[in-house]
Amino acid sequence: MILANVLKQFSALSSFVFLLAACSEPAARKKAGESFIADVLTIDNASVDSPGSVPKFRFGPQPFKILTDVNDLSGEGLSLLQGGDLEVIEMAGSIIANGLFTGGNRPLLEYRINDGVVKPKTSKSLAMLSAMYQFDSLVANIELLTGKKPEEFSKEFGSLRVLFQPAILMDDDGEQVRNYETSNAAYVAGAKQFALFKTSDSEKVPLSFNPQIIAHEFGHAIFETAFYANNYQTCDSKDFDKANLFKGRLELEYVIRGLNEGFADFVSFAWTGSSNILESSIGKSSASAQRNFSELTFDYDAWSSVSNTCSGGFYCLGSVWARTLLDIYQGFNFDVRNGDQRKQFLRELVGMLKSTSEKLRANNGAALPPPDAEIEMCKPRQKRIGLIDDEMLGTFLKAFVESSSASSRKLYCEKIALRFGSFGFANKFRGSCS
Ligand SMILES: [Zn+2]
Repeated sequence: MILANVLKQFSALSSFVFLLAACSEPAARKKAGESFIADVLTIDNASVDSPGSVPKFRFGPQPFKILTDVNDLSGEGLSLLQGGDLEVIEMAGSIIANGLFTGGNRPLLEYRINDGVVKPKTSKSLAMLSAMYQFDSLVANIELLTGKKPEEFSKEFGSLRVLFQPAILMDDDGEQVRNYETSNAAYVAGAKQFALFKTSDSEKVPLSFNPQIIAHEFGHAIFETAFYANNYQTCDSKDFDKANLFKGRLELEYVIRGLNEGFADFVSFAWTGSSNILESSIGKSSASAQRNFSELTFDYDAWSSVSNTCSGGFYCLGSVWARTLLDIYQGFNFDVRNGDQRKQFLRELVGMLKSTSEKLRANNGAALPPPDAEIEMCKPRQKRIGLIDDEMLGTFLKAFVESSSASSRKLYCEKIALRFGSFGFANKFRGSCS
């Protein structure tokens, strides 16, 4: 069934069910401690025949593995809070770098149970269940995705919290402004929370429970454990002591923020098989086409030297990176339609990111180029500065290539050189390639 029809039928159905419920016995509530099956919106994985295409979605019963309490939408290490206030001091892309959450209530989930299946009665309940189904499955698959044992992951992560439609408090010229964002999802770095905002009418599959978007946000959490050594830091200019590495430096780097976005898109591809992350929600547009990394039309050198090649700032660098990872994946003769192989390659990447980070952090960041003036003042730069960013990128790529095994290094070198060219991966960084 086409999704729009599913959603239309769902809203017709839910008002019907609502009427019915009003004149019959209230449906039995599920008890805590039981795992459950619920009607949710998921991706039909078999529908993704090529990575650039838009997946098809389906609505129907799916078993939850981690959540055991449908009324609280909680389980071991995973829970949802509805409402509350999320204070945002700094937001870059879909990452809230400095967020403080207060309040929030247990979810108000409206459902009935039919033949043992939890059936959401409102679109809000459908959104909560569908979003949580994705988080539930991602956490249940953590070892396949990252190579980390579930115990290890939960030790690092504590409890993952999903904030459903919090109000955003933003500091605007010293005044706190409360607004309810629409049409987005975000990862609150450091606090390890996911924020899902209200949906707008213009979205096809709402971003806040689109499995492609949720997997992207989850990708930021994986990047945090691997590259930020599970310790995402906020910069404080008082800490700057002329050493290359200081608290929050790598978190602020324009290049690293782009690589984080591209990695998150690649995690989404590993999860669903599609590189077309946005089209299912926002439709066909230049923004969704630029993010569809398997059909990328530019490389790093073109983006660096020709204006208007890509308008997404550091996301553009991310797309070149995601495309490079896909080239390497295919260079190993892995099949884009094989979910096990996609996860296997992702595990290798997670290990390499960890090792890359260790190389960049060694001896107080001796390998890193000196920080630019804005980063010294703890400001996240919004524009690329070629001379500075090419150095940072080359330094990262050198350490990344050195983290590959001897048998696959040639492949990594070739594919990275192809996409990043002479600006992004200058000869002086290619020492370990020959
Ligand atoms: Zn993101």
